[in-house]
Amino acid sequence: MKGLLIKDIFQKKPLNNEITIKGWIRTKRESKNFCFTEVNDGSCMKNLQVIIDDNLDNYNDIIPLITTGASIEISGNIVESPGQKQSIELHATKVKVIGTAPADDYVLQKKRHTFEYLRTIAHLRPRTNTFGAIARVRNAMSYAIHKFFQERNFIYVQTPIITSSDCEGAGEMFQVTTLPMENIPINDKKIDYSKDFFSKKASLTVSGQLEGETYACALGNIYTFGPTFRAEHSNTTRHLAEFWMIEPEMAFCDINENMDTAEEFLKYILTYVLENCPEDMDFFNTRIDNTIINNLQNIIKDKFIRIKYTEAIEELTKSKVDFEFPVKWGIDLQSEHEKFLTENVYKKPVIITDYPKEIKAFYMKMNDDNKTVRAMDVLVPRLGEIIGGSEREDNEKKLINRIKEMNLNPDDYWWYLELRKFGSIPHSGFGLGFERLIQFITGMQNIRDVIPFPRAFKSIDF
Ligand code: ATP
Ligand code: MN
Repeated sequence: MKGLLIKDIFQKKPLNNEITIKGWIRTKRESKNFCFTEVNDGSCMKNLQVIIDDNLDNYNDIIPLITTGASIEISGNIVESPGQKQSIELHATKVKVIGTAPADDYVLQKKRHTFEYLRTIAHLRPRTNTFGAIARVRNAMSYAIHKFFQERNFIYVQTPIITSSDCEGAGEMFQVTTLPMENIPINDKKIDYSKDFFSKKASLTVSGQLEGETYACALGNIYTFGPTFRAEHSNTTRHLAEFWMIEPEMAFCDINENMDTAEEFLKYILTYVLENCPEDMDFFNTRIDNTIINNLQNIIKDKFIRIKYTEAIEELTKSKVDFEFPVKWGIDLQSEHEKFLTENVYKKPVIITDYPKEIKAFYMKMNDDNKTVRAMDVLVPRLGEIIGGSEREDNEKKLINRIKEMNLNPDDYWWYLELRKFGSIPHSGFGLGFERLIQFITGMQNIRDVIPFPRAFKSIDF
């Protein structure tokens, strides 16, 4: 049997079959007549224990080359293991060291490193248990997300990464330009963008929503899943400059159906990861945060709380807690408030709706009170906001008013406004930050540790 992954070997237990594995050495122990080594190939957390007997032809040549980090190809027989730690092991009949890893230089020799240090060796950290598990969980979650939407006939749409529109009007964007930095063309004291690559100012997208809406207003339910960029100056454990976002947009859908979908979606993907990544989840539960699995199970079971912003403010005021950011109607909820509501008041996820229009984007549908908009944020314990969404303003006149109120120029949104002019429909959607989700699932404290190559304020190591 060729080409078996270690994961398959543990599952199928092909006893007394000759098999070949390829992977990297994790540990080695020598005893009198043989050598134990543990090999990992990335397919699962567990290492396969290999026994190399000293009557192997090239024993004395290869043993010194078997060091942590070396890559290796081993053929042999799978047998039941007499040891306590593993059910099966591999008795080697052929061993080939493919690439050596000089022990003096290989930093992963040492057993434990801090996550901060591992960030500086982002090219090697996927070889550790934690980062291997994160990669597998990210993979499973990506699949579950597509599966959820595909099973429900949502169309996957690729919205642009380079954009000429500033989605929310206020988002901090990265500019995309080929203008020479040392000699920027100026015309009338302003940068002359006519000389730039696109002949106008362009940026990296902060959200695919506006473009997503154009497809929802033609194809029905759609979703995007792609990279997003925000020049966030906030140096927090929850913000990246480059992150992935999932943004469904649903036609003929109001805020209530939007909340239903968000809740069903979260529960579906959490269930998926618990069912499909038990070994990795068990690792996070033992090594990172021992409340994780229990927490996720409760979230799947319980109905989310749904309250209006005004009620949330009342709850926070009633608590008499001395928050760093004082609470009064009109403030944007800070992470301390979000955590208090989900961890102390309700002890479960909370969906907050009907926020003051001043603190939300121009495209959110205005309520009849003319003060609040149909926004919805999904907050979860430990993390705060994980999803932000809304029902969109579908009335052309009201939308123009909102654009002007926010000091934006309606001309810049001419195509967006036309969606309201021609066959306008009630529609809603939300954005889930993929890395926030992975943080939530794994219990990892810092968002920089749940994306392979983190980019954050003043930090781009790779
Ligand atoms: P926050 O208040 O936490 O900054 P936001 O209101 O800016 O979030 P939205 O614009 O609603 O967030 O974006 C939708 C989702 O994208 C958020 O709920 C969050 O999960 C995620 N998100 C937003 N900004 C970032 C970021 N800088 N890094 C990682 N994920 C982010
Ligand atoms: Mn933000």
